[in-house]
Amino acid sequence: TPPLQPEAPAADATFVPPPAPVVAAPFEQLGLAAPVLANLARLGYHQMTPIQAASLPVALAGNDLIAQAKTGSGKTAAFGLPLLQRLDPRNFAVQAMVLCPTRELAEQVSQEIRRLARFEENIKVLTLCGGSPIRPQADSLAHGAHVVVGTPGRLMDHLSRGSLQLDALATLVLDEADRMLDMGFFDDIAYVAKACPKARQTLLFSATYPEGVVRLARQFMRQPQEIALAGQH
Ligand code: ADP
Ligand code: MG
Repeated sequence: TPPLQPEAPAADATFVPPPAPVVAAPFEQLGLAAPVLANLARLGYHQMTPIQAASLPVALAGNDLIAQAKTGSGKTAAFGLPLLQRLDPRNFAVQAMVLCPTRELAEQVSQEIRRLARFEENIKVLTLCGGSPIRPQADSLAHGAHVVVGTPGRLMDHLSRGSLQLDALATLVLDEADRMLDMGFFDDIAYVAKACPKARQTLLFSATYPEGVVRLARQFMRQPQEIALAGQH
């Protein structure tokens, strides 16, 4: 008779394994506020992933950043924590905006930012993508939001019809910039970036570093620091 095999664990479609950190880099070393750290621990985030360990000190210090890392490396917290740190929850104005290539990615980013924001009761994150009626989105914006996450075309539409105001914007994030460019969003991104206050932080994340990304950085970023972890986790 063959030796007994341990039973395979049941497949769970909702389980996403966290990225494995290669270096021990606890979130405690970042000087984050105690409630922020407690929330990270509640989420099961103890060690930073490599892209987080490389990006967070730069981004938390307020510098512009170009970070190159592949999917599943923990990029959302690498920009989510800095944008939340700079946010004033008492000011019900859009203070951070994240551009994503697709509705699905925008919804994932919104959910992750909401999880990261649980240390504070009152942070409102709105997702603004095409394919949904624009009027209800404009009504939600009128009620106030701290963070908006969306696709470039729809964010541009809200800006041009006046339903989105960016006077209080402190952080602009271009997530999956190479994919947005592949989808032909350069002009929409440029429109949105030009509508942002000049004094802001811009964080750009991309799996690859093509010429279009270089152009975006030259036009819309200020002395960005570059971090590349391509090929690694
Ligand atoms: P990316 O945007 O690079 O594809 P995500 O930000 O979506 O990656 O993160 C991938 C997964 O890893 C998510 O499920 C997230 O909750 C989890 N995660 C991110 N950072 C950590 C961490 N430091 N420790 C444990 N899990 C993490
Ligand atoms: Mg991502």
